[in-house]
Amino acid sequence: MEACVIHGALDLRLDKVKEPELSDNYVKVRIRAGGICGSDLHYFSNGRIGDFIIREPLIPGHEVAGEVCAVGAKVSTLKPGDRVAIHPGRSCGRCPRCREGRPNLCQSVFYMGSASRFPHMQGGFCEFVSVDESQCHKISTDIAFPLIAFAEPLSVALHAVHRAGDIMGRKVLITGAGPIGQLLLLAARRAGAGDVVVTDLLDSSLGKARQIGAAATINVGRTPDALTETSRAIDGFDVAFEVSGAAPALNSAIDAVHPGATIVQVGSLPAGPQGVTANRIMAKELDVRGAFRFGNVFADAVACLEKGLIDVSPLLTAVVPMANAGEAFLMAKDREHHLKVVIEF
Ligand SMILES: [Zn+2]
Ligand SMILES: [Zn+2]
Repeated sequence: MEACVIHGALDLRLDKVKEPELSDNYVKVRIRAGGICGSDLHYFSNGRIGDFIIREPLIPGHEVAGEVCAVGAKVSTLKPGDRVAIHPGRSCGRCPRCREGRPNLCQSVFYMGSASRFPHMQGGFCEFVSVDESQCHKISTDIAFPLIAFAEPLSVALHAVHRAGDIMGRKVLITGAGPIGQLLLLAARRAGAGDVVVTDLLDSSLGKARQIGAAATINVGRTPDALTETSRAIDGFDVAFEVSGAAPALNSAIDAVHPGATIVQVGSLPAGPQGVTANRIMAKELDVRGAFRFGNVFADAVACLEKGLIDVSPLLTAVVPMANAGEAFLMAKDREHHLKVVIEF
């Protein structure tokens, strides 16, 4: 079969690779759509993301949806022809974290398209994948495959909102208006957030954020003092989601929230020490929490998409055929013009 394979920084090829095999509990899925994620872009651009470095050819992709084409002997809930969203993670189910209901923290999780382990865990930007039955979430409406592919990043957003606790009526700050920041905006609004203010360096992304419900947006590149002024005017934000993965943005969030507030770090910061004004965490008694991938919310994300509770379609800026995958990655890198770029397989 054909697969998109990253061999190193800026080296993406369409290679012929072996088709995955089917075992008793597994389902073979013909991939139809795959969303390009920030982490795929990091692997593509830099050959690494944070501490995870590409050491062998890697098929990227973990935001995938497709059609069941074969099922193993012990599979009972799916049949060929079913349309599915694929949960890219398969945790062990036995370790203390899994048993606490936090499968995203499982140390032996298999996560599609990740170089966090060696041999790397191959992803879904290819024609066929073979995944455990439990990873397939059947789609019951006629929603298009490129939109189903949002189930994974929407799960990240739902999880981040859960990490923040109850945000009903709260004043929320989101630093970073890429796809995850925008999905967080939609998820936070759905969860009852009051005014949501979004920051970024790009006017185009901020325009989109206003279009989908941000109460206000701030270009922190052009107006570096505006966030401080906004924060002062509202007596500080109750909750901040740091999505940009930049230490200065985390510092600005630490400044912009009121004492006793909550900050959720969602973006992937560079590896190593980052120069964060950590003493302010003590002095303002802040709750700073991480949000890593997502826990048990994938089915909720699928339901939100199927039932139209969260409309992600304004974020889909291009659907590109597999033959032009390299171009699709370059488009996804072009944040000025694109948010979510989806490859069709
Ligand atoms: Zn993703
Ligand atoms: Zn586990």
